[in-house]
Amino acid sequence: MKFLSTRDSLLRISAREAIVKGISDDGGLFVPEYFPTFDISENLNLTYTEMAHKVLSLYLTDFDSDELLYLIEKSYQTFEDEIVKVACQKDYYLELYHGRTSAFKDFALCLLPNLLAYAKKSLGIKDKTLILTATSGDTGKAALEGFYNTEAIDILVLYPTEGVSDIQKTQMDSTASLNSKVIAIDGNFDDAQTAVKKIFNDEAIKKELKKKNTYLSSANSINIGRLLPQIVYYFYSYANLVNNKKISVGDKLSFCVPTGNFGDILAGFYAKQMGLPVDKLIIASNDNNVLTDFFTTGTYDANRELIKTISPSMDILVSSNLERLIYHKSSAEVVRAKMRDLKEKGTFTFACDFSEFLSGYATKEDTEQTIKKVYQDEGYLIDPHTSVAKAVVDKLGLSKVAILSTASPYKFASSVLKALGENPVADEFENIKTLYEKTRVKIPREIGKLKGKKIIHKTKIKKDEIADEVLKFAGRGKRISVPATSANLGPGFDALGVAVGLYNTCEFKLTNDDEGFRQNLKENLIYQAYKKTFDTYKETPKPISFDLDADIPISRGLGSSAACIVMGIMAAFLVMGRDIDKKEILKIATAIEGHPDNVAPAIFGGTIVSILEDEEVFLEKMGISDKFKFLALIPDFKLSTKEAREVLPEFYPKADAVFNISRVAMLVLALQSGDENNLKIALQDKIHQPYRYKLIPEIEKIEQIIKESDVLASYLSGAGSTIMLVLKADDDISEKAIREKLEILSNSYQLKALAIDKKGAFII
Ligand SMILES: *Cc1c(COP(=O)(O)O)cnc(C)c1O
Repeated sequence: MKFLSTRDSLLRISAREAIVKGISDDGGLFVPEYFPTFDISENLNLTYTEMAHKVLSLYLTDFDSDELLYLIEKSYQTFEDEIVKVACQKDYYLELYHGRTSAFKDFALCLLPNLLAYAKKSLGIKDKTLILTATSGDTGKAALEGFYNTEAIDILVLYPTEGVSDIQKTQMDSTASLNSKVIAIDGNFDDAQTAVKKIFNDEAIKKELKKKNTYLSSANSINIGRLLPQIVYYFYSYANLVNNKKISVGDKLSFCVPTGNFGDILAGFYAKQMGLPVDKLIIASNDNNVLTDFFTTGTYDANRELIKTISPSMDILVSSNLERLIYHKSSAEVVRAKMRDLKEKGTFTFACDFSEFLSGYATKEDTEQTIKKVYQDEGYLIDPHTSVAKAVVDKLGLSKVAILSTASPYKFASSVLKALGENPVADEFENIKTLYEKTRVKIPREIGKLKGKKIIHKTKIKKDEIADEVLKFAGRGKRISVPATSANLGPGFDALGVAVGLYNTCEFKLTNDDEGFRQNLKENLIYQAYKKTFDTYKETPKPISFDLDADIPISRGLGSSAACIVMGIMAAFLVMGRDIDKKEILKIATAIEGHPDNVAPAIFGGTIVSILEDEEVFLEKMGISDKFKFLALIPDFKLSTKEAREVLPEFYPKADAVFNISRVAMLVLALQSGDENNLKIALQDKIHQPYRYKLIPEIEKIEQIIKESDVLASYLSGAGSTIMLVLKADDDISEKAIREKLEILSNSYQLKALAIDKKGAFII
């Protein structure tokens, strides 16, 4: 399968190339050269990921099939509950909002980054990708999650100050990934989108970026890698309705889609071309009804004011994906002419048989009334975007339509409350609570966790400042990030360690300052590890300077030196141009550190069993349940490693050895299964903790505090002085309770909740 440009059908490139490019150099969008067929009657019983694999394989023919399945499974694991839930009310609601950010854009944006990373890697592209995306709210967060700490891909999201809901803003501004930046830009969505499009067409900026080996790409729905994943749920939902005996196989089904950029509904058109029995595709707009006008009159006219509605993700005047439909209904030549008209005059006309489509729009009043009506009549809660679709279905007098439900009502709690006749307050979290109390509809997990999240991104700019921000963001040096580690995990003395979500990050640049480099080599572990790596490969080290941003406290049993060693080695690999082979890195790191317990999890992430025998490292990475999180109790004093070693006995009673063997075996399994009771007993140790705890002042008081709280178990991290507490992952209360109790101690303690890091060291 090849992909052509809507503005040049002689251009033929592969799927991987199309995904990497995003948009064609001629300004066109990539489209498949033909529509493959997919017979739903023979594929009724597939799981979502199986169906996604089958459908996408028809287009992504240059992807390795097993690899593609792996990427799909990995991507859709991020969904809560069912991937697509079909709610059979008077109409059928395809709930597409059970992904990480509670909007349907997760379907494409959890997968696109994985497709892109695979495409780049397999094509041997080493340049950095800078994803630049304007968002009306949902795309931004879904993209930020999808691209979370993806190697060699950075993401810059711009959202307009007007029109984005408070929840959407908080979702974006609290994103903690190291490869991201979120900026608010004065104006509305069209302002933001226009400004971003200008950057994409700005040759000077592109040249500037090229010097930095960076090229721009987009997460907006112009990328074919975003469109294709959306075809799948049309097929899947149809099969679901057949399996639930709501329709018979072969019956024609109409779909109504709340539309903005025309991406979601275009995927439905693709499904129809592939053979899905589709009756009508219904294009539902809000007050920004450019598409309704176009499909009824044949004239597309973007010369109008953008109206701020309560369905902000559809507040769009230029629907980018319409270009693809026009191409499929005409030719590249026609597309070029129409798009020229649109650019020059803001309008174009296109006459065509669109009888397979219906269109309509809903005003704000329609939208509110429909939310209320569906809730009152059917006890079913829908968000404003879904309500636009339902209102159009009702206006057109249709029934038994499949309505694409694109967002959770909790994303727009104040608008939904208002529609239900309640008075929303200024605090959106209060509104969420009220909406829950009124309806008892489950709050999506990630929205529930949003309250109190730290706001990380605070930049606000004017339109004409975007270019500077892009260059500034791209101008950062190469960066490496390495997680903290907690070794000697309970009874796993010298063998078991886990990587946790606290990071040392460095930015580095090659320098000409030989003297400064030599000086740093004398006293700094990162530089020493860097040089040692060159020595290992018998190469001469190039002078370098590191700028370290250290979050891991030093000499507290959290692997700060391991992190620095790994960092230095990885920098050396990058400077030498070697592939980042983590096993090679582990060898060198173990040689420097003397043992693998900390460096192994720092490199690979997750929980690692490692054994050093005859200078060779043997290791296994084990799965770890999402049911646990760690809380580090970090004192303001260090324990000397020497002293911590000296207190250990030379010999142990047999009973102690047996005790530890049984506990460590149980620990390995309990960490995987998530069984709290087994974990509790399994974290005990008789090899080092009883001796080392004596070195910690006020240990009895600390143990008392732990006992009184809801901590599952605790252990001494590394050789101390940090004590690691293991809690249930959803326990957000204990931290506060423990913090208050710690005040009775004379030493001061820092308390940090740490997720488990599953990825290990990575390059940004
Ligand atoms: C993006 C979005 C839409 C519109 O989808 P398009 O593919 O742009 O037509 C509708 N509803 C919600 C909730 C969205 O986030």
